[in-house]
Amino acid sequence: MEPVETHNPPRDRVRVPTPLRCPICDGELEETLIRDLGGVTADLIWQLHAGRCPEHGWFQTEVISRPPWEIFAVNKPFGVARRLVIDGQDVYSFPTVWNDLPPAARRQRVDPLDPRYWRVRRRADAG
Ligand SMILES: [Zn+2]
Repeated sequence: MEPVETHNPPRDRVRVPTPLRCPICDGELEETLIRDLGGVTADLIWQLHAGRCPEHGWFQTEVISRPPWEIFAVNKPFGVARRLVIDGQDVYSFPTVWNDLPPAARRQRVDPLDPRYWRVRRRADAG
């Protein structure tokens, strides 16, 4: 017998295309997952995106009507943040191109799923 859900089951879509890529190697992610948290109205998109890089593990990010600010390394989809060590430094999250835009540029209406804004800041640029 199936377990009975006493709350609304999360609306997860699996193995779906997502703009999310591995923030370390820029590779495509496997086992991608999108959880809809809102988005019932046309003008609100509220989603969690997650996926696994075969080499670098799980990553996830949150979209609330705007492209994500940061991509997080997590222990499993929708799990807790995990620590990565890159070039001897502790890293928990990766700021996106969107995060680095000036405030005026971030006030414009953009497609929150436009992959251009999901790219992470190149680590070389961070010094
Ligand atoms: Zn990777």
